[in-house]
Amino acid sequence: ILIPLVGMVLAIYFYSGKEEFKPEMLKGKRVIVTGASTGIGEQIAYHLAQMGSHLLITARTEAQLQQVVAHCLELGAASARYINGSMEDMKFAQAVVKKAEELWGGLDMLILNHIGNSYFHYFNRDIEHVQKLLNINFLSYVTMSVSALPMLKNSGGNIVVVSSLAGKIGFPLTVPYSATKFAVQGFFNSLRQEFVMQNINVSITVCILGLINTESAMKVVSGTVTIPSAPKEECALEIIKGGILRQREIYYKYMFTKIPTLLRDWAPELMDYVIRKSFNVDNLNED
Ligand code: NDP
Repeated sequence: ILIPLVGMVLAIYFYSGKEEFKPEMLKGKRVIVTGASTGIGEQIAYHLAQMGSHLLITARTEAQLQQVVAHCLELGAASARYINGSMEDMKFAQAVVKKAEELWGGLDMLILNHIGNSYFHYFNRDIEHVQKLLNINFLSYVTMSVSALPMLKNSGGNIVVVSSLAGKIGFPLTVPYSATKFAVQGFFNSLRQEFVMQNINVSITVCILGLINTESAMKVVSGTVTIPSAPKEECALEIIKGGILRQREIYYKYMFTKIPTLLRDWAPELMDYVIRKSFNVDNLNED
């Protein structure tokens, strides 16, 4: 009897007084979404458009961004613009934030979601690739946050960082990618502490995602990974909710991300074993 009772008391303590999500919270908000030409970023843009936000989306492929912008306008975005370029170049990362400043004179939410292409195979010892991926997946996130901070301080805004279970637990076959996600989480979790200490009213939400059914992820893992994938549309909505509600972290799907994260420290060998077992290396794709 005691255990459920303590559980209930804790649940009431943690959830009482917490604000509930309403789509109107995003109406008129000025939001940058990176990596929005495909996958989760594209779905984030569509949700925000339906909620009536102002959008600035970015990625490399201009034709794809044009299509996403057009669809955002059909869905009801307050405005939608794009800027294309590579996040390997920190000048471009700064230029995206500058564009938001020119367009809106301020910013409410920065959603950092893009990732560079990597391989799904044993570590190939290519250090230049690790360096390149760190620039795209990590350093550009830092650069954009630094550039956007003055505007986000003014608006009391949100930084939303899309990360992965592979940034909590070491994953095989994605060594460079996993390393960049650990870097992202280390940086933003530390920065959040300093924001609290300095009374900086900018929230930082780190999103810990499991396998999501985006085209690129499904192509890479097909035949190799036995974990079920979750829908990108729902995932995108959870990311937005977490950001606007100023949550510290979100876990999606909870069962496949929070439980392994808890087990990581309690039973590391077991967790490593379970992860290894969910990869079928006989079917490993060579590219
Ligand atoms: P996608 O591959 O579908 O999208 C990646 C986006 O980044 C695209 O818009 C792509 O557009 C852009 N991009 C790629 N390279 C660059 C570059 N050099 N500079 C700027 N933009 C670039 O990824 P997902 O939607 O699957 O993933 C989105 C986020 O979710 C990532 O942070 C990922 O780590 C995370 N995540 C995803 C999981 C999944 O299973 N899908 C699992 C866990 C986390 P373009 O090529 O036109 O530049």
